Amino acid sequence: MARALIEVAFPFREVSEESVCEKYIHQGHISTLHTWWARQPLAASRAIALAALLPDDPARRAEWLELVRQIAPWKVVSDGTPESRQLLERAQEAIREAFGGRPPRVLDPFAGGGSIPLEALRLGCETYALDYNPVAMLLNKAVLEFPQRFGPALVEAVRRWGNWVLEGARRELAPFYPSDPDGAVPMGYIWARTLPCQNPSCGAEIPLMYRTWLAKSDKRMIALRLIPHRAANRIEAEIVGQGGEPINFNPDEGTASWGRVRCPLCGGTIDAKTTRRLFREGRAGQRMMAVMLRHPKRAGKSYRLPTERDLAAYRAAEAALEEKRQALWAEWGMDPVPDEPLPPQGTLGLNVQRYGLTRWGDLFNARQKLALITFADAVRRAYVEMLQNGYMQEFARAATTYLAIIFNRLAEKNANMVTYHAIGESAGSVFSEKSISMAWDYIEINPFADIGWSKMQERVELSLNHLTGGLLADGEKQRKAGKRSYRSKQRTK
Ligand SMILES: [Zn+2]
Repeated sequence: MARALIEVAFPFREVSEESVCEKYIHQGHISTLHTWWARQPLAASRAIALAALLPDDPARRAEWLELVRQIAPWKVVSDGTPESRQLLERAQEAIREAFGGRPPRVLDPFAGGGSIPLEALRLGCETYALDYNPVAMLLNKAVLEFPQRFGPALVEAVRRWGNWVLEGARRELAPFYPSDPDGAVPMGYIWARTLPCQNPSCGAEIPLMYRTWLAKSDKRMIALRLIPHRAANRIEAEIVGQGGEPINFNPDEGTASWGRVRCPLCGGTIDAKTTRRLFREGRAGQRMMAVMLRHPKRAGKSYRLPTERDLAAYRAAEAALEEKRQALWAEWGMDPVPDEPLPPQGTLGLNVQRYGLTRWGDLFNARQKLALITFADAVRRAYVEMLQNGYMQEFARAATTYLAIIFNRLAEKNANMVTYHAIGESAGSVFSEKSISMAWDYIEINPFADIGWSKMQERVELSLNHLTGGLLADGEKQRKAGKRSYRSKQRTK
């Protein structure tokens, strides 16, 4: 066979640039479905697939290279304009022409995050994707198989049942996230882990915070100031800057950094090794330091110190967790809070084990566990309810898969390793750093605020909308072709 275009030339620079731009796309992109570290950029996957499938023909080389360049941008597969559709159709036609009028078969035996098979499918190829990893397998079903089989009805089902799950969970969980008497809704709770000061003449509870900023931008500077109260042997806090008053201390200087802890009360320090030992011995606690709120009728966020109401709601969640956990344990035949051990320290950047966090469930505080097992329960119930509503089992399974994906996103956002980002006044995610390292302070989000379940659902819907609607250039015809041509197989031992 003649050499492929990619063996002779490839527009590296342009395709690389488009691949970099893609990192900042959150609407509709498959990366919003699930974290997959090694996912290839779609721009590069599409361009490479095309350049690998087209033959090198010196007479048409410039024309084909231009086409490879032109189909790389994200807008070509997302804006739905006639120009974009024409480009994709030209690419599909050129490929068919190169293979004697038939779409070629493309096999990705290590499909991973699904970029290459998705783009091969988009280029009209008969596409096969395999992976040994069950997460990748599920993702490929969600990205490739279900959208082709079920089309836009799937988006509708995910919207309807996603809302059903949210409302079901809300009925059970609302009392644990009480709104303020003035109607302000807590968006999140900022927690500090704590250690007892090791200075025998002090012994105060030290809130561990890397930094104490709450808001840090050109317009707003708000921070927590830690105030040592010698008489009470306690470290109090106040919020400074909310009324525009200057910050006359340094919020970059927290109490904990790289495991070294400093007591604001006596000035004593704890070295990193002792810190780890104290954590392993179960001496660490946690303290709610601030509550981030949004009022439905006011712009922006506000902050206040926790009140007895906030603490009571948390204690109530602790009690409710035990009850719910036992009930689900009996129903499911397994502990609903994941009790499997974490992998050995260092695996995949996990290094929280040396602080005594040894099981997956340890990555969540009590209210986070309660929220997650309640949502998980609601997702399982949604599936049963779908069947009772006459849904075909295969369709119900597909729809529930996306609910599970929304759930995963929520778990990633609602863990006790999620750091607070003062610059955007937002919560990070467990995987912000591509590793899971110890967070001294963290933000616990309210899953019913607009950064919770509804946000995750919206992202999954957008992505699914992209996959079911704008994915293929010639909707109906291609969907039928896709139905025939896509097979997904799990490689078994
Ligand atoms: Zn001290």
